[in-house]
Amino acid sequence: MNTVSDRQVVKLGPGKVKASARINLNGQTHEVSFIIQGDSVYEGIEPFLTLALLPAMASNQPIELDEPASPRLLKGFNIVQDVFTNWDKQFHRIAVKVPAKTLPAPKKPGITGKLPAGIYPNLKTSARFLRQNLNKKTLKRAWQDRASLLKGQPGSGPQDTRKVACFFSGGVDSFYTLLKNSAEIDTLIFVSGGFDVYPHPDNGELRRMITERLRQVAREMGKEFIEVEADLQNFSDNYVNWFYYYGSAMGALAQLLSNRFKKIYIASSYPYNNLKPCGSNPISDPLWRTEALEIIHDGCESYRAKKVVTIAKSPIAVSNLRVCQNYGENREYNCGKCEKCLRTMAVLQAQGILENSAFPSTINLEAISTVDLPEHLTRSWKDILGLLNETGKEPELARVIRERITKLPGTGIEEKIAALEEELARQERLYTKQKAWARSLEAHNVWLTEQYETATRWGQSLENEILARQKKRA
Ligand SMILES: [Zn+2]
Repeated sequence: MNTVSDRQVVKLGPGKVKASARINLNGQTHEVSFIIQGDSVYEGIEPFLTLALLPAMASNQPIELDEPASPRLLKGFNIVQDVFTNWDKQFHRIAVKVPAKTLPAPKKPGITGKLPAGIYPNLKTSARFLRQNLNKKTLKRAWQDRASLLKGQPGSGPQDTRKVACFFSGGVDSFYTLLKNSAEIDTLIFVSGGFDVYPHPDNGELRRMITERLRQVAREMGKEFIEVEADLQNFSDNYVNWFYYYGSAMGALAQLLSNRFKKIYIASSYPYNNLKPCGSNPISDPLWRTEALEIIHDGCESYRAKKVVTIAKSPIAVSNLRVCQNYGENREYNCGKCEKCLRTMAVLQAQGILENSAFPSTINLEAISTVDLPEHLTRSWKDILGLLNETGKEPELARVIRERITKLPGTGIEEKIAALEEELARQERLYTKQKAWARSLEAHNVWLTEQYETATRWGQSLENEILARQKKRA
C-alpha cells in the first residue's frame, strides 16, 4: 500500500526541531525530513501527503491512508492533478483514498471574554474591557460581533497571533516579493542548500556564508529568520524531476510551519505573460493550502528584469542580492561570469548601480557574447534588451546582447531583421565618421601640398639667388 508512516517530530536541542516520515511508494520506502529552526511544527499528516502526491502520480500508484487530512488540501489535490497531467505525460491521475476531516478552524481576529451586560451602569469595567480588547485589528471584528456582545455573549475568540512569512533565497524574485509585501511579512524562511528551481549542491563554507549574510539582511530589515534544511531529493529524484517537484516541497514546508504562520508567500519564477509548466506556479502553489494556512504565489505581474529595476531602489537588496549558479571551483557569492550573474548585472549596469552591488563592479561584454544561453532564457534577455532600448542607456551593452540573442535558435525573423538594421545603422555611423575623417585628411593633404610647393618655390628662388651671387663673384 502506498502510504505515509512513522511520522516523527523530534527536538534537536534548543531551537531546532526535526520532522520526518517514511513514504512508502511502489514497494520502496523512503525517508524524508526537515530540520527547522524553532521549537515546534504542525504535526498533522498533510505535509507528507503533499510530498507524496507528485511521485505517486509519476509512478501511477494510488495513495491510501486511514488518517484523515484537510478537506481543503484534498480538494486542491484534484486541481493539482488536472494541472500536472495536462502539462506532462509522465503524470497520471491517481486515486487519493484519504478521509477528509476539517482541521480546527483558524482563529480569527476577535475579542476575548464577555462585554459586561448593561454597558452604561458599569462604565469603568466596560472601559477596561474595551481597552484590553479593542486595538485597531480587532475593531472591525468587534463591530461585526456587536450584537452578541451587547447581549453579554462572548466574542468570536482570541486573536490569531500567527505571523506572515515568505520563502527567501536572497535572489531577485524573493527580494521583490519581500520588498513589495514588507509591511505584512514578519519572517523570512531560508532553505539552506536551496529550494529553488535549481537547488544548490552542498557546499559547507559558501552555504554558511550565504546563510549568515541573509540572516543579517533579515536583521537589518527587522524580520525574523528561520533556517531550514530539507532532505527530500533522495526520495523525489527517484520519481520526479526537481524542476516539477520543488513547488510541492515548498507547500509541504509551509504546512509544517502553519502552527506559526497563517500566510506564507512564495515568490513567482515567471510572469503571467510567460508562464511555463513548472513546480511552482500561480495555479498549484495556492492549492497546497489548508483550512489553517494561506499560500500566496506572488510577483507574476512583473518580469525578472523589471523586478531587478524595482529592487535596485533598495540598497540592502542591491548589496546582498545573490543569483549565482556557478558551482565550479572558487565558488563566490556572485561569480559575475555565469549566465544568471551576467543577466542580473546587465540590468544593474543599465541602472548605473553595478558598482554598489554584490557583484563584480564591471561586466565583461565578451562573456555575454560567449556565455551558454539555453533557449528558454531568450525571453529574459529580450526583456533586458527592451529595457535598455527604452532607456537608451548603455548602447554598447545593448548591441552585444542583441548580437547574442540573434545567434539563438529560437530567435524569430523579426529579431534577426532588427539586429541587421541595427548593424547597418552602426556601419553607417562608422562610414560617416570615416568619411569626415577622410575629408579632413584630404584637406590636410591639400595644405601639405601647398606648403610643399611654397617651400619648393622658396628653395628654388634661394638656389637661383645663390647661383646669381656666385656668377657675380666669378
Ligand atoms: Zn555567477
